[in-house]
Amino acid sequence: MEIIDSHTHWGPSVSMGIEVTTEELLRQAEQSSVNRIVIFPFPSMALADEGINERLLKEANRVKKFIPYYYIPETMKPIPDGKGFWGGKWHWMRGIQDCSSNYQALEDPKLGEFIEASEKIDLPIVFEEELAFTEAFVKKTKILKLIIPHLGMLGGSPVDFLPAFKAREHICFDTALSSPDTIMKFIEKIGHERIVFGSDIPFGTMKWELEKVLSLPISDDKKEWILSKNLRRLIRLT
Ligand SMILES: [Zn+2]
Repeated sequence: MEIIDSHTHWGPSVSMGIEVTTEELLRQAEQSSVNRIVIFPFPSMALADEGINERLLKEANRVKKFIPYYYIPETMKPIPDGKGFWGGKWHWMRGIQDCSSNYQALEDPKLGEFIEASEKIDLPIVFEEELAFTEAFVKKTKILKLIIPHLGMLGGSPVDFLPAFKAREHICFDTALSSPDTIMKFIEKIGHERIVFGSDIPFGTMKWELEKVLSLPISDDKKEWILSKNLRRLIRLT
């Protein structure tokens, strides 16, 4: 069964003073038989130096297991088309890092252009904001594919995210750091088709996060969708 980790951080983190190296990600992948790894830069690194997107892309060209995502900068530049990125990461746009949404970002005239360009590129964006921000953002979109990390845990409560986006077929969720019970609740309510496996290294480990999904009381077929096929469909990886 192919396994793709849809959520890891690669490179240095300015705010945490650590670095997640290629070797570390490959070591964890080897240990857990993970075939491919989605990587994106740490927020603090991307804010300090936008050039990290380029360096990450270069590394992904060298290491074939990597699937590079583009960190969307505060200028709201959409994922550059045709450069080799397979998705994007939207992280508390102009907000206080990992803490609270800045609702003024929703009023930025550039947002409309950003959404239009992103829908045209048709790649998923790992999208992290508070629930009310996410709802307001989603209202502005038509077909934009979002992956909400941690089943919405950092933007509020998964219990609230679930009903808010139940009817939105193009909104998916990743399993990183969430409990098996909550993952099951999501599978029961919106189906396994909208759930993707992620570890959120360095905040989680591939081994632990993967074991959690493997131990869910669902068929192997459904696990395979969560572990790789859903993400393949989202990023159109053939
Ligand atoms: Zn993360």
